[in-house]
Amino acid sequence: MTGVLDVAAGSPRIVVLAGGVGGSKFVVGVREAARRRWPDAAGGTRAEITVIANTGDDLWLSGLRLQPDVDSMIYALAGVNDTERGWGRAGESERVAAELHAWGAGWPWFTLGDLDLGAHIARTGWLRDGASVTEVVDRLASRWPLGVGLLPMTDAEVDTHVTTAQGRMHFQEWWTRHRAALPALGFDWPGIAQSEPAPGVVDALAAADVILFAPSNPVVSLGPILAVPGIAAAVRATAGAVVGVSPIIAGAPVRGMADACLAAVGLPAAADAVGRHYGARSAGGLLDAWLIAEEDASLAEGLEATGLCAPVRPLWMRDLDSAAALATAALDSTAALDSIALGAHQRS
Ligand code: GDP
Ligand code: CA
Repeated sequence: MTGVLDVAAGSPRIVVLAGGVGGSKFVVGVREAARRRWPDAAGGTRAEITVIANTGDDLWLSGLRLQPDVDSMIYALAGVNDTERGWGRAGESERVAAELHAWGAGWPWFTLGDLDLGAHIARTGWLRDGASVTEVVDRLASRWPLGVGLLPMTDAEVDTHVTTAQGRMHFQEWWTRHRAALPALGFDWPGIAQSEPAPGVVDALAAADVILFAPSNPVVSLGPILAVPGIAAAVRATAGAVVGVSPIIAGAPVRGMADACLAAVGLPAAADAVGRHYGARSAGGLLDAWLIAEEDASLAEGLEATGLCAPVRPLWMRDLDSAAALATAALDSTAALDSIALGAHQRS
């Protein structure tokens, strides 16, 4: 298949909006797909991949700044993540956490691994020394050759909060302590309306040949990214193609508790509902194409009626090959969008 990306650019610019664990699996697939399709002499890729990471999950705990989604992304791209447990560092230990618990410090239900604490201490120290969040993420990401550029969505602190019948709490308390079982009445990000995209974010979106929405949680991972003023507008205005991947397959999140977040914003856990939530660019929304699973093939027609191109593809990321195949399917779906992406094509 020849897509706009093949004719457009020897070095296509790919931007991915992503959350933590699900987002990083997809980004690892994008990097692998790009290596295979646009290899460079050094075993990497000529493609320029920029990841815009969710920082809505960030929190202060025991005096340390934590950035769970940023760290999940870095660990997965570096290959130092714990693939069995599904989060954190491989070979992790919890000696410091045991001491913190003995002191009665922190949250007993939120365990910090020793290796992970190294990242939190480094980050907090740099922040205390006056570095911006962008600079800190760049320093953390430079430890390993990740093969992608990593930008936080914003330098501002806009930690996600959840309102429940038992009161308002930090997202991590609701997600980890309550396992998202307390019905959420709504989410908010204090200060987000006054925040700005981090340096480089809007430029990356404007220059992209393709913007990919990872199959991340639509409400608490991509939701905050798109709520930073200026980011959604930059997605709408880009000359490149905008392609999303459904995190919902056959009426359920592949893993995790995304359905609890969708319910709070009045959306059913259904691939077509999430696609409509983002909306077609041709109808004032954000996406040109929305990849749905083979299990959801019957939803394609209804989605196409809203102006979205809705390719039906295998959406399961079980290993590197299936994640790369999913990324390739997302990139290839731009072939059907040549006319939309013509601006990007003509620019190069
Ligand atoms: P988190 O920040 O760690 O919660 O991770 P994300 O928000 O980036 O991604 C979580 C979402 O990834 C979940 O809601 C899942 O539905 C989705 N997900 C996880 N694995 C897969 C997969 O193999 N295929 C697809 N399509 N979605 C997945
Ligand atoms: Ca997250």
